[in-house]
Amino acid sequence: MTYFGIKVLNTPSYFDRNSLGGDDMNVISSKIVTSFRFSGAHKLNLSYESKCCRLHGHCWRVEVEVEGEILDDGMIMDFSEIKKLKCELDHTYLNELMDQPTAENIALWVCRKVLNVAKSRKVKNVIVRVWESEDSYVEIKVSE
Ligand SMILES: [Zn+2]
Repeated sequence: MTYFGIKVLNTPSYFDRNSLGGDDMNVISSKIVTSFRFSGAHKLNLSYESKCCRLHGHCWRVEVEVEGEILDDGMIMDFSEIKKLKCELDHTYLNELMDQPTAENIALWVCRKVLNVAKSRKVKNVIVRVWESEDSYVEIKVSE
């Protein structure tokens, strides 16, 4: 099937996409990418002496990539469903949302949330990057 002249593989046909264009390219992957920032406090429980064990905060940056199929509404998933996660994280004490809120665990938390809101979609992979500072980030990739 085609969509704006691009052949889309493995996508269910809910409407006549051929009406939108020709059949001269193959889509081999499709994804959406979005990001948001939030401020949050945390403290870590570590087995060694670290300033991270004291209560402190970061201005986190979260990048989310969702790989999947374009459905009949023309979307892999709505960007706003991901942006809503900012409200759950912003200006919180992260230890109240999850145990040991490292950047890794925040990324896993975001992955789980994105998979949950995308249950009705055809999502293949979710990649989440959580930046704790300008030069340090964690990346987690999960599949449905
Ligand atoms: Zn920290």
